[in-house]
Amino acid sequence: MKIDEMSAIYIMAKAIYNKEVRLVDGKEKLFLSHGINKNSFADFYRAFQKMLDGELHTRGISTDLRDYYLSQIYKDYGAERLRTALKAYMDFILYYEEGHNNTVRRIERDIHQKYCNVLCEIYKNRTIENEMNEFWEGELGEATIATHKRNIQARNKCIQSKGTKCFICGFDFEKTYGDLGKGFIHIHHITPLSGRDGLYEIDVENDLFPVCPNCHAMLHRRKDSTLSVDELKRIIQQNND
Ligand SMILES: [Zn+2]
Ligand SMILES: [Zn+2]
Repeated sequence: MKIDEMSAIYIMAKAIYNKEVRLVDGKEKLFLSHGINKNSFADFYRAFQKMLDGELHTRGISTDLRDYYLSQIYKDYGAERLRTALKAYMDFILYYEEGHNNTVRRIERDIHQKYCNVLCEIYKNRTIENEMNEFWEGELGEATIATHKRNIQARNKCIQSKGTKCFICGFDFEKTYGDLGKGFIHIHHITPLSGRDGLYEIDVENDLFPVCPNCHAMLHRRKDSTLSVDELKRIIQQNND
């Protein structure tokens, strides 16, 4: 399927899902603009809707379109929704693998795996950050003692070399909150390059930065990619000129 067709289908499916367009009108429009068969589009829409809602849809769609849907769902709706969509997709794969009069092609599992890897990178990074920022308050979850120790050491090294003031806006917790704020700071972990396995060393100098919770939230606000430290500094500068 051509990229402009997939893009038109996705945009229309999204508009119908948001109740901005009725399905019957969407079918008509796509038929006129791209010659897309109306019944096929109804199926494409249903597959999109079921993925967003995390429900099984037993009619297959082209793997190109599936791949495109998943990339756009991540971009527009974020990691949690991608996870929901992947669950629905796996239900679909299993439905066919368990012998419902069809065999699912190997490529379906490959596409599923590709997006699982994307999620893995995101969650791995978040787990490290949560650990360092003590969001879990004594509940270490799946972190092993060894990674816990490693994360604490990395946090301490980062603070030793870069201090406890926000690296981006300069906020100093001790200065504002006195003793209560002493030593408090979030540690931001730059997303490690994909392709590294679970056992890489944290590069404290380049991967970790002390940041206040406001700046930290802004670094992660964009859905498709984390802002760089310099980008956020520039944004603050531009808005204070
Ligand atoms: Zn800050
Ligand atoms: Zn962060």
